[in-house]
Amino acid sequence: PKSPKKQARRRESMYEYKSEAARKVEQIAKIRDQRRQKQADERALRDQLIQSEQNNPYWEFEQMINEFKSGKDFHPLRETDPVVENQITVCVRKRPLNEKEHHKKEIDVMSVPTKNQLIVHEPRQKVDLTKYLENQLFRFDYVFDESCTNDIVYKFTAKPLVKTIFEGGMATCFAYGQTGSGKTHTMGGEFRGKQQNFKNGIYGLVAIDVFNYINHPKYTKEDYMVSASFFEIYGKLVFDLLAKKKRLRVLEDGKQQVQVVGLTERIVAKVDDVIDLIQKGSLERTSGITSANSNSSRSHAVFQIIIRKNGARNITGKFSLIDLAGNERGADTFNSDRQTRLEGADINKSLLALKECIRALGKKGSHCPFRGSKLTQVLRDSFIGEKSRTCMIALISPGVASVDHSLNTLRYADRVKELVASEDFTD
Ligand code: ADP
Ligand code: MG
Repeated sequence: PKSPKKQARRRESMYEYKSEAARKVEQIAKIRDQRRQKQADERALRDQLIQSEQNNPYWEFEQMINEFKSGKDFHPLRETDPVVENQITVCVRKRPLNEKEHHKKEIDVMSVPTKNQLIVHEPRQKVDLTKYLENQLFRFDYVFDESCTNDIVYKFTAKPLVKTIFEGGMATCFAYGQTGSGKTHTMGGEFRGKQQNFKNGIYGLVAIDVFNYINHPKYTKEDYMVSASFFEIYGKLVFDLLAKKKRLRVLEDGKQQVQVVGLTERIVAKVDDVIDLIQKGSLERTSGITSANSNSSRSHAVFQIIIRKNGARNITGKFSLIDLAGNERGADTFNSDRQTRLEGADINKSLLALKECIRALGKKGSHCPFRGSKLTQVLRDSFIGEKSRTCMIALISPGVASVDHSLNTLRYADRVKELVASEDFTD
């Protein structure tokens, strides 16, 4: 029989042996658990991605846009930036995504890196289905991002043009863009629900400044008279928004002077009188119908403030403010409805004529094709004379679903300014 000492040593080493085996098993189990956990994590992440892809069909593009922006310093326009005096100013305003767009999980595909640049991040896909962004850079006089108010937009666009009408020139400001992009919000005033604040739109802000000038000691001795008109151009027809949409005729005399016959011109003594007219005309514009498919997105609205000296017949200056028809309507030329098709063709023609006329204004001695449309015909005075100044505000919706329309708007605005990009107006 073995000695008890030897037996004890043997038990010990067997124990050691077992415990080592046990430890190996434990380790294998641990590794297996870790692997399973890792797989579970990966699966969860994948499910999350699939989930988010279902919730947000543009999540990959959104990630790419965020990545693009993350490496860059953005310096958008500040209210204190200098206002440049141009004969022609072209700028872009981007509105925020609205409720409807948020609800549809649309993403914002526009970024504003500087005070005069805008980048469109157009989502694209290669033939092998790889997704990528086509980033397109545009440059204008100013770019207003979604944080800009009407007051800021006004400061850089129409405000510098008010003095023009006191110096015997014509001032004109257009709002151009797709329906729903913010033209009426910018020109007429910010909406709160269905209510519109007519005091903070460009119409109202111009009126406030015109009266500021008149009440300024430098101008009070002149005894200015201020009046206003408001009409709508619908295809080839003109309607008076201050006279229950009475139809008006446009005549041109032998001296190429264009007249809207019988247009209401109300004399106004104070800002509130103008605000009343803006409200009255705006409500008239959106109420009632002039034809089966009529609505405000198919017509151009023209609001004018006119000043005269000492009861003189001739005007000193005129400020025309135009809320243009939705530019997407100009593409309605393939519509099955004949009326809609003709309207689309008219809108298209007027927007093209407008572009040519503004370009002609910027190019000294060039011919202005104002007879190309009713719009440019009634605004003829705006496109001639060295003292005339024009501003175009192109409005864009930031959502991915609007990217084609937005690109059309940006390209149009780009061409309006292209010829005059370096011609600064100095007074
Ligand atoms: P349009 O006249 O070009 O068809 P609207 O001015 O009627 O477009 O604007 C469409 C909607 O978007 C309105 O409800 C308006 O209040 C809103 N909107 C437009 N621009 C802005 C903006 N800059 N900030 C907030 N909301 C805006
Ligand atoms: Mg509108």
